[in-house]
Amino acid sequence: MIATIDPPGAAPPFTTGLKPWAQTLPQHISPTAAKSYLSCSLRFWFERVACIRKPTTPALHLGKAVHAALQAFHLARWRGGDDSVEAVSVAYEAAFLRLEREEGPVNFDDAAEREKCRLDGLRVVAAYLDSPEAMHEKPRAVEVLLKEEIPGLSVPLTGAMDLVEGNFTPVDFKSAAAKPDPDNAAFDHEIQLVSYQLLLEAIGETPPSLDLVFLVKTKTPQVIRVKSPSADVHRKQRVTALLETAVEGIASGRHHPQPAMHCSWCQYRRECKAWLPGMTVADIHQPKAA
Ligand code: SF4
Repeated sequence: MIATIDPPGAAPPFTTGLKPWAQTLPQHISPTAAKSYLSCSLRFWFERVACIRKPTTPALHLGKAVHAALQAFHLARWRGGDDSVEAVSVAYEAAFLRLEREEGPVNFDDAAEREKCRLDGLRVVAAYLDSPEAMHEKPRAVEVLLKEEIPGLSVPLTGAMDLVEGNFTPVDFKSAAAKPDPDNAAFDHEIQLVSYQLLLEAIGETPPSLDLVFLVKTKTPQVIRVKSPSADVHRKQRVTALLETAVEGIASGRHHPQPAMHCSWCQYRRECKAWLPGMTVADIHQPKAA
């Protein structure tokens, strides 16, 4: 299905200003992959092309387990199932163990850190269920995966929305260590939020806003909604161009270090130091003799 992103009667669909890409294309692009590529194309290569696995960080592990618990809650709301605190807590505990088993190891320092992580997650889940942000109506959709063709984009756009509310507002949940600044949060997640709007418009729906709900792991957990107005043509054109830039870079195999603040927490610094143009996966494991 092709998205209609201009108002009725407006000029033909925009172009990004980028030339159509004729080389080998990825099968699709997601906002997560595009953001990862644009942030550091070499880290993207280590993660998604060379598939070099690293231990999961505690923060990521907690975020995934919390996400699974919220998914269980929203699915129960949707299906009319058990959405009690007890049932959601059971879902959280099961996800915490399953993710350790299937996607671990998690690089906890020791058992005490693991226990703190587990309890922090339980606390933020409970805070969400007790907050005004907890979904009390029946959601429109939960964990909906869309794949649509978008004008200006060489490959289909894919995206998995955590929650779509009854009025077609997409909601994405984020675990955070500190209270977010609303403007920064909306800007940081612009590619993801506007991509969701493009996907919803592609199936004929218009979201009234694009929302993030932050679950903040402070001593007393906080639940903060950041609302972003739905995107105008300029924002949609900008995000489509960013997505297409990632598609072109991935298709052309353009991967290089992009040093910045994010290097402080990058798990691929050893591999990054070994990088030279044309590096292969074998080079990473067997550095050439000088
Ligand atoms: S250390 Fe920095 S430049 Fe190197 S791969 Fe990681 S994020 Fe990219």
